[in-house]
Amino acid sequence: MTGTDIEQVLPPAYELKEPEPEHCPGPESENAGKGNACTGCANQSVCESLPKGPDPDIPAIVENLSNIKHKILVLSGKGGVGKSTFTTLLSWALSTDEDLQVGAMDLDICGPSLPHMLGCSDETVHESSTGWTPVYVADNLATISIQFMLPEDDSAIIWRGSKKNSLIKKFLKDVDWDQLDYLIVDTPPGTSDEHISISKYMKESGIDGALVVTTPQEVALLDVRKEIDFCRKAGIRVLGLVENMSGFVCPNCKGESQIFKPTTGGGKALCEELGIRFLGSVPLDPRIGRSSDQGESFLDTHPDSPASTAVLEVVEALRDEVGDF
Ligand code: ADP
Repeated sequence: MTGTDIEQVLPPAYELKEPEPEHCPGPESENAGKGNACTGCANQSVCESLPKGPDPDIPAIVENLSNIKHKILVLSGKGGVGKSTFTTLLSWALSTDEDLQVGAMDLDICGPSLPHMLGCSDETVHESSTGWTPVYVADNLATISIQFMLPEDDSAIIWRGSKKNSLIKKFLKDVDWDQLDYLIVDTPPGTSDEHISISKYMKESGIDGALVVTTPQEVALLDVRKEIDFCRKAGIRVLGLVENMSGFVCPNCKGESQIFKPTTGGGKALCEELGIRFLGSVPLDPRIGRSSDQGESFLDTHPDSPASTAVLEVVEALRDEVGDF
């Protein structure tokens, strides 16, 4: 499937004439075109004409996800804290258990990185009578990403909310995962269109919850608070927090340093304050970046490293939190 195909496969999205104004009820909401903010808005006629009522795609989504035991969203307040890296590590770690079937969905539509990190960026998605076949990285690990559909590796995706929503729905209702024990969904940083849409579309299918990734500095933690507030408002359970790039052990002198200093107590203190589970911390290890860049599993290439041990401990805690033991 190529980039041109993806444009054709997605249903025509509506085009807003200008960005949604403040207090916009949402072009797809019941009150679209009828709210106070709609009067005089250039989009009013577009919004009024959009179909109202229950979303007709939800039953198909529920049906397609009905054979997936655990559905986990991976969130972060900021970009660059290691969310996609951790999604990849989590997927590799779960799939080392041969009894588990694992799917990794890349919902970072404008900045997809899972295919590269999972070492399968040259693959494409095939369409069959049962839907889109995800790309298999191992017998029990499959992934889906818009990256597989781009005409060129570095083609930019410049889509407004409605087009993104069409793709998210497509990923949810048409990807043929077969049976999965875990579907791990990597999201873009922050609380944007993709987060609102995925939580809305998956609500009836049941989301186990969200795993939040942060680094120890206060600027990252400030955004984590917003992420957790989003989860509460969207009715998504917070499964716990992972502190990534937490400390660095020099491979030469074995001296430990805190590169990103937890000036306010770091992720652990935040978890205590907010009453959420601290799932563990993963140290900064340059070899994690190298393995990601080469599309290899760091857990395979450096199984005895403190970082691998730390990742596996977080995964155990997460499996415990979703009641998988
Ligand atoms: P995000 O998804 O939050 O934007 P990424 O997963 O893309 O962040 O990670 C950003 C960069 O940090 C990448 O280059 C990645 O290899 C690196 N990185 C992530 N976690 C670690 C870690 N624990 N040790 C060393 N480098 C890391």
